[in-house]
Amino acid sequence: MDHDRLDRARAAVADAALDALLVGPGPDLRYLTGYHAPALERLTLLVVPVAQDPWLLVPALEGARARASGADRIAELIEWDETDDPIALVADRLPGAGALAVSDRLWSVFTLALQSALPGARFHSGSIVLRPLRRIKSADEIDALAAAADAIDRVHADVPELLSPGRTETEIGRDLTERIGETHDEVNFVIVGSGPNGASPHHETGSRVLQAGDAVVVDIGGMLAGYCSDATRNYVLGSPPPGYGALHGVLEQAHRAAVEAVRPGVRAGDVDEAARSVIRDAGYGAAFIHRTGHGIGVEEHEEPWIVAGNDQVIEAGMAFSIEPGIYLPERYGARIEDIVVATDDGVRILNQRPRTLTICA
Ligand code: ZN
Ligand code: ZN
Ligand code: ZN
Repeated sequence: MDHDRLDRARAAVADAALDALLVGPGPDLRYLTGYHAPALERLTLLVVPVAQDPWLLVPALEGARARASGADRIAELIEWDETDDPIALVADRLPGAGALAVSDRLWSVFTLALQSALPGARFHSGSIVLRPLRRIKSADEIDALAAAADAIDRVHADVPELLSPGRTETEIGRDLTERIGETHDEVNFVIVGSGPNGASPHHETGSRVLQAGDAVVVDIGGMLAGYCSDATRNYVLGSPPPGYGALHGVLEQAHRAAVEAVRPGVRAGDVDEAARSVIRDAGYGAAFIHRTGHGIGVEEHEEPWIVAGNDQVIEAGMAFSIEPGIYLPERYGARIEDIVVATDDGVRILNQRPRTLTICA
């Protein structure tokens, strides 16, 4: 990992008039150090103080994994033994701390203990420091997202051969999990929504048996070199059910409109409206039941939120999904999802699979 991120975080801690940033296991820790620490009852904590070099406290039994991640090259590694009190250790090293920020994912069991051990400190949300850093991607991060997008595109290319009448969503899900595992380092999620199950956006997989004429929503994602993929396409077994082709056409148009709206200076809410207005005009407004997209990076869902009313201004380097959907309960659903990056003068789409409805023979 680069020192850069830790240096920028430290500068942001100083700018926010904080004494230190405390980061527990989770995406913030991965972002800052590359260390994919397990979230355990034993405390793991990265401390980024303004007045000292950063240090990473880990339980001794995790020391080897922390070193293997390279985290010890950018922060001093401190291993605590089973009989040590890690909370006291942190408090002792931050004497007189007045203002501390904690990462969103630091468990309350640790936050509350730190608050009692440091009664003179005020605790703030670490997001003030980390959100602005994480939502603008560097060229390296965009390359990593593009590689992840390419990996998930290759899995989507295999979907038609997996879908056939008589197979269950769970069986297809198992095959997809295997293929995501082959192209990524980790499988994040697998959604196979067949027939009426496609009308529930976060339906994962179930025992439903696919039938001829089913529409199937496949939304899959994994992690490659620390960065997430997330892509949705729609498939039909044989001829589409009544109305589905037209609905899908509306969605393609909505997706295109939102992508074309992306450029620095527009608001996130404007991008949402670009997709939503197409769907509304086609009479499906009430059936588009979620935001148009979410930021993506070391985490599947992060800032910026592409949602109605969000005044967040899009800047070059922001990466997010464009995923309008239309859901008709008890019938079917559809969603088209790609990851895009705002560039200096427009937008770059990272996913390349055709967005049209794929008819599986
Ligand atoms: Zn989602
Ligand atoms: Zn998705
Ligand atoms: Zn998504």
